[in-house]
Amino acid sequence: MSKYAVGVDVGGTTVKLALVSESGEIFKQTSVPTLGDQPPEVTVNQIRDAVEEFKNGLSPKDSIIGIGIGVPGVVDLDGGTVSYPPNLKGWGVVRLGDHVKKATGFETKVENDANVAAFGEGIFGSGTEQESFVMITLGTGVGGGIVINRKIYRGVFGGAGEIGHISIQQDGPICACGNQGCIEVFIGQQHIVDFAHSLLPMFPDSPLARIGQERRLEVKDLSIYANKNDQLSIHVFERVGKLLGVALTSVLHILDIRTFIIGGGVAGAGDFIFKPAEDHIKSHALTSMRPSVKLIPADLGNNAGILGAAAMVFKG
Ligand SMILES: [Zn+2]
Repeated sequence: MSKYAVGVDVGGTTVKLALVSESGEIFKQTSVPTLGDQPPEVTVNQIRDAVEEFKNGLSPKDSIIGIGIGVPGVVDLDGGTVSYPPNLKGWGVVRLGDHVKKATGFETKVENDANVAAFGEGIFGSGTEQESFVMITLGTGVGGGIVINRKIYRGVFGGAGEIGHISIQQDGPICACGNQGCIEVFIGQQHIVDFAHSLLPMFPDSPLARIGQERRLEVKDLSIYANKNDQLSIHVFERVGKLLGVALTSVLHILDIRTFIIGGGVAGAGDFIFKPAEDHIKSHALTSMRPSVKLIPADLGNNAGILGAAAMVFKG
C-alpha cells in the first residue's frame, strides 16, 4: 500500500496540482487557470475536481492521505486562512483549508508559497542535508522562506521571511509594497532588465547592444551572453550578486543561518550571481560569522510549489 499527497500551487496565472509519493515522485500532474477575480469557491471546486480525478486513478490499495496548498500572501494557520492574497482579487479573507477539507474530505494544510518552496527544498531538494537554511527565490519578485531545525519559521503572525522587502537604500526607488529601496526594486527580474538597458550605451560592442535595440532584453539573454564572456551581462550579474549579498549579510546577522538556497528563474545565472554574493557576505559580515557561509542552487525548479505543498502533508 502506497501513500500519496496532493500538492497544490496556487500561482498568479495557473493552479498546478500533482499527486506525489512519500519519496517526492510526481505520479500525475495537471493545471487549471487561476480564476482569482472570482469567488474562492470556484478555485475550491477546481481543486476538488482534480483531487477526485487523482483518487479515481489510484488502485484500491493506495490512498491519498492529505492535501497541501501553497498560496501567495500571508496565511494564518487557523483554518488555513488566507487574507487578501495579491493576484487573487476576488478572495478577501478565506478559510481555504477548511473549505477544501469540506469539499474533498481530506485533511488540508495551507501555507504561504515562498515558505512552501523552502520547505520543499528541505524535504525533497537541495536542502535535505541542511537542518536550517534560508531560501531566496529570485524571479519577478524576491521571495524568502526560513527553515529552522527542518521546520518553517513563520514568525509570530505568519509573515516571516519577507527578504525581498529588506530596504538597502532609504531614499531609493519606491517598491510595490510602498517602502523605498527594497532589495526587490534592484534585483527583481524587470529591474535587472531595466538596469541592463540603461548600460547599453556604455557597452556598444556587446551583442546585447544590438539585440536591446530590437526588443526588450530578458534575464535569460544575459545568462546566455554571460557564459560567452559578455562584459555587460557579467557586470549586471555582479551588481545583482553584490546587492543580494548586502541583503543576505543582514539576514545572516539576524538569524546566524549560514546556508542560503537560491532558486527562481534569475538564479539560472548561477555563479555569475552566487560568487559576488558570497564574496560580499564573506568580506562584510561580522568576522566571527563568516565561516561556513555558503550559497547553493535550488533543485526543484518549477516543481518547488507542488512538491513543497505535498511535503507539508508528509512531514509538516
Ligand atoms: Zn518592498
